[in-house]
Amino acid sequence: MKYLILLFFVCTFAFGQSETPYPQDYFRNPLDITLVLSGTFAELRSNHFHSGLDIKTQQRTGLKVYAAAQGYVSRIKISHYGYGKALYITHPNGYVSVYAHLSKFSPKIQKYIKACQYEKESYEVEMFPSPDELPISSDEVVAFSGNTGGSGGPHLHFEIRDNEERPINPMLFGIDIKDTKSPFLLAAYAYPKDRNSHVDDEKNRKELRLIPNKNGDYSTEPIEALGDIGFGIVSYDQQDLANNKNGVSNIQTFYNGNKSFEMDFKRFSFSESKHINRFIDFEVFKEKKSRIQKLFVQSGNTLSMLKDVDSYGYIKVEDSTNTVYKVRIRDFKGNESWLTIPIKGRPAKEILEAPELKPDHFIYADQVNELESENISVYFPKQSFYEDFYIDFGVDSDTLKLHRDVVPMLKSYTITYDVSSYSEEDKSKLFIAKLYGYYKNPSYISTKRLGDKLSARTKSLGTFALARDTVNPTIIPINFQDGKWLSKLNYLKVKIDDDLSGISNYRATINGKWILMEYDYKKDTLTYDFDDNVNTETENNLKIIVTDNVGNSTTFEATFFRK
Ligand SMILES: [Zn+2]
Repeated sequence: MKYLILLFFVCTFAFGQSETPYPQDYFRNPLDITLVLSGTFAELRSNHFHSGLDIKTQQRTGLKVYAAAQGYVSRIKISHYGYGKALYITHPNGYVSVYAHLSKFSPKIQKYIKACQYEKESYEVEMFPSPDELPISSDEVVAFSGNTGGSGGPHLHFEIRDNEERPINPMLFGIDIKDTKSPFLLAAYAYPKDRNSHVDDEKNRKELRLIPNKNGDYSTEPIEALGDIGFGIVSYDQQDLANNKNGVSNIQTFYNGNKSFEMDFKRFSFSESKHINRFIDFEVFKEKKSRIQKLFVQSGNTLSMLKDVDSYGYIKVEDSTNTVYKVRIRDFKGNESWLTIPIKGRPAKEILEAPELKPDHFIYADQVNELESENISVYFPKQSFYEDFYIDFGVDSDTLKLHRDVVPMLKSYTITYDVSSYSEEDKSKLFIAKLYGYYKNPSYISTKRLGDKLSARTKSLGTFALARDTVNPTIIPINFQDGKWLSKLNYLKVKIDDDLSGISNYRATINGKWILMEYDYKKDTLTYDFDDNVNTETENNLKIIVTDNVGNSTTFEATFFRK
């Protein structure tokens, strides 16, 4: 027994040395509150793995954000969507720390950004300051936490990237979260690989009933199977100080004690993040919003987080055998849960196979594929898909049915409508829309017009149609009225909205001079900060022009007084 314990420690030490060459205690907690996470590194998100930690900010914005270490601001990006207001600091050791969804920056950084925004006359900007422009000392407050961009609630998105822009789990650098709970398992599935394999006489994905054990582990009733079988699980992890369902850190599988698969969620490249839709069961995700992680590797899935995969993670079940398949799910702190699946090998009983419906159109993944009807054509570049499949393609007047949105895609493709049968006036108001849900709600997809052709590029299948937007955007003042004194106001705020095609751009001036208005698409607001000091007159003319995606535009004007 003593010998075993000693061996264990030696191994752990060796493991620690080779797996974590990351400097410890170099990066500090970027906030001055206890770290509580609403999102862990590499957890499963829509079309990507999460590239950092989401740190909870007590349901508030405006918390001081500290530089994780000394360095210089190497990149600033302000966008309406995505990261919102984001700051990148490069450190002398080559790592880059990233802070996103910020509400604002420290005065010296804010000044630097505003100069650029006023020069470019754009809220959305991207800057790459040189090392001597914005040096940052350790513990310097660089920004304030917020909820900008595609953030669903106040939090700080924090990343550490290496010198090749690859995100790494910041917890590998010693940033610590209290976590004593083991990961949870919500569901398990078996996947017969081909027509020669089965699970309980089924040839398709089969959900297995989970039996929770007293010690927190799980098992299933024995399954009867034969041939090559893969498995999938739905799992999450919870830390001690919050109820958020976060991602796990590592999944391993063992067949009769031999490791057959490992997914290690510690670092990845942005270029491979799209393969998440190959890693999860994309069809189930699209239809039920549940993310089954497939514990086997299918063609084209080149995720570097997949390690030591034997036989692509599939197991081979032989006739008349009793075997055991196990899954080990771990969080970053090493808390673990096990799933045990006993397997009896036997041939399938007679299986009545449903005749497969084969539409006329076949997609060859390694070729260019073109589909055409009278007025609509679809162009898929090579390698738009992971595998060949029968695509359901149908056109009914202006409605294009392009399969269902259940096939993971690797590239954008082009849909083109011939609109020569429409009047000139109609043509200028038409756009290509994707139809969502039971009510087929049209949603604008970026549409270009060239003569009689409208074309749009998109990266998901589904149902599409032509839609017409003839209604101008609306602009409504929120905190002021035309012709009034506004000396006490700190901000000018208006609400802007557009039916159907959505807002494409806006431009605001005071007395003819461009002013910076921040667009919050979640609140439909434009905000001007009087601290920008663009207006120096007593009587001022505010003018805002908002244009939608087909070119309908609205001009709002108001006079206000200020001293
Ligand atoms: Zn995040």
